[in-house]
Amino acid sequence: MSHYDVAVIGGGLLGCATARHLARAGSRVLLLEKDQLNRHASGQNAGSLHFQLEYRMVEHGDAGARLAARALPLHLDAMRAWATLEDELGERCGVARRGGLMLAETPAEVAALDRKAALERRYGLDTTVLSGRELRELAPYLSPTVTAAGYVAGEGKANPRLVTPALARAAVRYGTVLRTGCRVTGLYRHGHRWELETGGTTGDTSGTAYTADAVVLAAGVWTAELAAMADTRLPVFPVGLTMSTTARTAPLIPHLVQHVGKRLSMKQTEEGNVLIGGGWPAKLVTRAGRLDLEHNPELRYESLTSNADAARVVPAVLPLPVIRSWTGMTTLTPDQLPLLGAVPRRPGLFVATGGSAFTLGLTYARLLADTLLTGRPDQSIEDYSPARFGALNFV
Ligand SMILES: Cc1cc2nc3c(=O)[nH]c(=O)nc-3n(C[C@H](O)[C@H](O)[C@H](O)COP(=O)(O)OP(=O)(O)OC[C@H]3O[C@@H](n4cnc5c(N)ncnc54)[C@H](O)[C@@H]3O)c2cc1C
Repeated sequence: MSHYDVAVIGGGLLGCATARHLARAGSRVLLLEKDQLNRHASGQNAGSLHFQLEYRMVEHGDAGARLAARALPLHLDAMRAWATLEDELGERCGVARRGGLMLAETPAEVAALDRKAALERRYGLDTTVLSGRELRELAPYLSPTVTAAGYVAGEGKANPRLVTPALARAAVRYGTVLRTGCRVTGLYRHGHRWELETGGTTGDTSGTAYTADAVVLAAGVWTAELAAMADTRLPVFPVGLTMSTTARTAPLIPHLVQHVGKRLSMKQTEEGNVLIGGGWPAKLVTRAGRLDLEHNPELRYESLTSNADAARVVPAVLPLPVIRSWTGMTTLTPDQLPLLGAVPRRPGLFVATGGSAFTLGLTYARLLADTLLTGRPDQSIEDYSPARFGALNFV
């Protein structure tokens, strides 16, 4: 049975980035992925790097926004992390940070934007509210219905198809042992070690057991299922989301575009396609009355039409044909804050999931790796600790 310092479960952005940090620091790391790398949320998402609070964080009023703002220190760190990622990895990941705009059309939305920007500035995020000529000059492509926008210079996009494979290659270069098609089916604590039982989906590693001093759950929507194997409950809920892309067109939108009063994210890829999303739901699949996380959620017609309607803020997008729509699943916690850190009462078990973990994933990974390596990351992760849900676990 092979033994490792750390076994990381999940070959998405969080797992690959965490493995990279740990292996670079000299840990013997095993990275286990039940399917292919980047097969799930990390490869299906919108690629937005949004550091302003999102619509889902402000839609329930100021108290909800203040709670969500407790993750803003992570947003600030993530902004720095994306700025240097491609140089660190030595490969292109489609990172482009030409600024992000969060739009407002009604007086109530403008007021919400002002309150949001004031809150963000208290945490050190440099949000400016633009209007009038200043806004028109920066973003002439916006509809005249847009009267103001929160602007953050470092926002933008990265290519979800490139980022996680590049992180995985770096993790392997530092010595991480990677097993794909290898599903963890059991987690047992023996003395000071964890034993991981696996069942392969592609054959070669089927039935292999591994041991590790520590285990990192970076398993996206499967996190609760894996936690249950370690006899612990983590409140992580799957959410189905919808994305669409238009045919290619000439350069039109240099910015990341979001809306403070509607579900909308919009950006143009390097190739010219306009990606449209922003949190419109897709229907999770159930079989025999139980959630089936192995199948992508079903498209909902209302989500497609409502998302298209929200896209009216950029009139030039409306005539473009939509060439593909797809769905994916991500995880949210009940308070929408990340779930990051050591799992109480399960020595050597750690978790990273929840929220906008494409934007924030590099930061979650660095802070979690430092927690494992030194016990003291340079930025507190107390607010995101699974201990806040300790009442779910009495033993
Ligand atoms: C449509 C959509 C749009 C989104 N847009 C954005 C965005 O624009 N910006 C943003 O910040 N975030 C966005 N997100 C959220 C973001 O994609 C996720 O937060 C992030 O990718 C999560 O990464 P992860 O590594 O935790 O999960 P995943 O990428 O899902 O990786 C988890 C991996 O664990 C593996 N796994 C699970 N169980 C086991 C097991 N038992 N054994 C072995 N392996 C296992 C899975 O196969 C999977 O590959 C979006 C999500 C979706 C679905």
